[in-house]
Amino acid sequence: MIKTVGIVGAGQMGCGIAHVSSLSGYKVTLYDISNERIEAGLATINGNLARQVSNGKLSDEDRKAALSRISGTNNVQDLAPVDLVIEAATEDESVKRKIFSQLCPVLKPEAILATNTSSLSITRLASATDRPDRFMGIHFMNPVPVMKLVELVRGIATEDGTFRAAKEFVASLDKTITVAEDFPAFIVNRILLPMINEAIYTLYEGVGSVEAIDTAMKLGANHPMGPLQLADFIGLDTCLSIMQVLHDGLADSKYRPCPLLVKYVEAGWLGRKSGRGFYDYRGETPVPTR
Ligand code: NAD
Repeated sequence: MIKTVGIVGAGQMGCGIAHVSSLSGYKVTLYDISNERIEAGLATINGNLARQVSNGKLSDEDRKAALSRISGTNNVQDLAPVDLVIEAATEDESVKRKIFSQLCPVLKPEAILATNTSSLSITRLASATDRPDRFMGIHFMNPVPVMKLVELVRGIATEDGTFRAAKEFVASLDKTITVAEDFPAFIVNRILLPMINEAIYTLYEGVGSVEAIDTAMKLGANHPMGPLQLADFIGLDTCLSIMQVLHDGLADSKYRPCPLLVKYVEAGWLGRKSGRGFYDYRGETPVPTR
């Protein structure tokens, strides 16, 4: 029975997962190596909960109770008592491997370890832990409090009991589950990221401006957000690493990351989270950067 949840990474996703878990009554420990990220993350969660109160979706009492269930820490030892850990750190396999090597000796033997990776092989990540049978992918969508879907992905060694526990946990957050096999980028990102990459090629080849491409897809394909706006929202570093995983894992040139995406990431223009990407977010309204 899962009662306490540890989250590794206080970025956009880790904070969203902490938000929905605490609202559903779980005690949450949010761990990051950066104190600054923890403080910013807790402030974001507070702000998002307050917005739910002002929208009439949440009572102030529930907001306070949810906040009181979340604690932040930069000490991995504080994850020792938790029943489930969801790793939501940077999308970089070496970072995740290092985290597992520090985390596994600290955890209870019966604790379940999950990753929120968007694209990496669950089986390969599992093999970097001491518990491949109690390891799996629980892939939330961004923004977590709003998006209904969670993809569940088993590795080759994931036990039925682990899968069942993850399914019950996700259902308790009032999310809908879809099950994907362990192939690069699973279902959502296997389809979504090549479309975003193609939008960046469309920009790179001068077929249209940022504004033209986003307007075209919003009004012409009825997408709620243009693909370049969505790329900025996901984070361009995350988009690039998913394309690299697709390219390496499926060895098909159709997944070649657009050189313009590489250039933006090299410039540190990572989208909303860094203040600039295909749009510049530093003023009152986002301004296209091309
Ligand atoms: P982010 O850049 O917002 O946050 C990553 C966090 O990880 C940062 O706070 C960083 O300090 C922390 N971190 C880095 N190394 C660490 C370590 N060794 N120990 C502890 N913390 C560490 O990234 P994000 O967008 O929240 O993505 C996190 C994960 O979720 C990635 O695996 C990503 O692929 C996945 N994901 C992202 C999205 C999205 O739309 N952004 C959607 C679904 C899944």
